[in-house]
Parts: sequence; structure tokens; C-alpha cells
Amino acid sequence: MQKIVLASGNTKKVKELTELFASFNYQIIPQTKLGVKDVPETGTTFVENAIIKARHAAKTTGLPAIADDSGIEIDFLKGQPGIYSARFAQMNGVVNAVNNDWDQANNNLLVKKLKGVPQNKRSGRYQCILVFMRHAEDPTPLICHGAWEGRILEQETGTNGFGYDPLFWCPEHQCASAELRPEQKAKISHRGKALKQLMAKLPDYL
Ligand code: IMP
Repeated sequence: MQKIVLASGNTKKVKELTELFASFNYQIIPQTKLGVKDVPETGTTFVENAIIKARHAAKTTGLPAIADDSGIEIDFLKGQPGIYSARFAQMNGVVNAVNNDWDQANNNLLVKKLKGVPQNKRSGRYQCILVFMRHAEDPTPLICHGAWEGRILEQETGTNGFGYDPLFWCPEHQCASAELRPEQKAKISHRGKALKQLMAKLPDYL
């Protein structure tokens, strides 16, 4: 079975991606199991950051690599936090997160920033870029994109998922993303859509 390194150190994202990959015939190995450390995300787009992560994991392991760079864009905040979604609170001067839970710190800040903003101005979307690189010098990485439109809730609801899921209203199921079962989220999410494209193209690409 073809081994592929998964270039992410985010354990919750790795869990979700590993579940998504479960039905495909590739052996997906999280980079932490191969001793790959996180690399600084110095790009200014999701595409650049995904390539940086995939290239680093491929270079360190000698294996083909898949990387996910994703985030949430909020229209009222002019597209922020975008590529800085994981670092939203830190970029806004928060220096400590209770129990080192930065997802919670990000959500607290988002609730605060959108306090009093009416329903019709709370639109936003998740974006996901998945990149596959055959090797570290691959000049034509396979790049797939998925987006998921929704709205930002006033308070957190649900305990599934990760990151902004308790604040993301999913129009398809009329509930928060954190109330969806993993298989429901996989069918409609930004990551699920990008992965579907990736799996359709990968056999011709390897
Ligand atoms: P990355 O690891 O730099 O790509 O950061 C992605 C960040 O975007 C995560 O840490 C979350 O804050 C957010 N994010 C991306 N996808 C999701 C999702 O499916 N649910 C909730 N938050 C997400």
C-alpha cells in the first residue's frame, strides 16, 4: 500500500483527516509518528502554507506528502482570521490561554468581536486547501480546494469537531458544526469536499 505522510501536527485535524482517509487505499502516517516537527507557516495564502508544510514533511521523510491548510473567513471582519485562524487570539495580543486551549481562546475572541452584530451580517465560510506532493522538489503539486458557507453563532453550541465548530452554524443541518456527527461533517465540510477532489485525482498523479 502506498505510504503518504500527513503534514500536520494539529492532533484534532489529524484525527479528522485520518477518519476521512479510512476508506481509501493509502497508508496515511501522521508526521509526528515519523519525527517531523511543525514548520513555520510563513506564506500569505492557504496554498503557500499548505505547500510549505507538505514540502517540509516530504523532505524530512522521503515520502510523498499531503498537507491541509485551512481556516475561517468572516465577512464582518473583512475575511479575518483567514490564514491566521489557528493564531487568531495570539495575533490580537492574547498571551495566555486557559489550559493552553487556544481553540477556546480564539472562540472567546470571536464571540467578543461579533457581539451585537446582527444575524444578516454574521456570514462566513471555512476554506480548506489540500496539497499533495510526490516529493519535496515536486514542481507541480496537486492542489484541491473546498469551501463551506455558514454563519457565526452568538454563543458556542455542541461538543464535536474542533476549532471554530461550536460557533459555526451549518445551514444544511440547521445546527452548529460541533453538533454534527463526524460522518455528517465529512459529507459537507470544506475538508470533505477538498478530499473528494484529491482522491479522484490522486490515482493518475502518483
Ligand atoms: P492550520 O493548521 O494552520 O491550517 O489552522 C487551521 C485552523 O483553522 C484550525 O486551528 C482551526 O482554528 C480552523 N479550522 C480549520 N478547519 C476547521 C474545522 O473543520 N473546524 C473548526 N475549525 C477549523
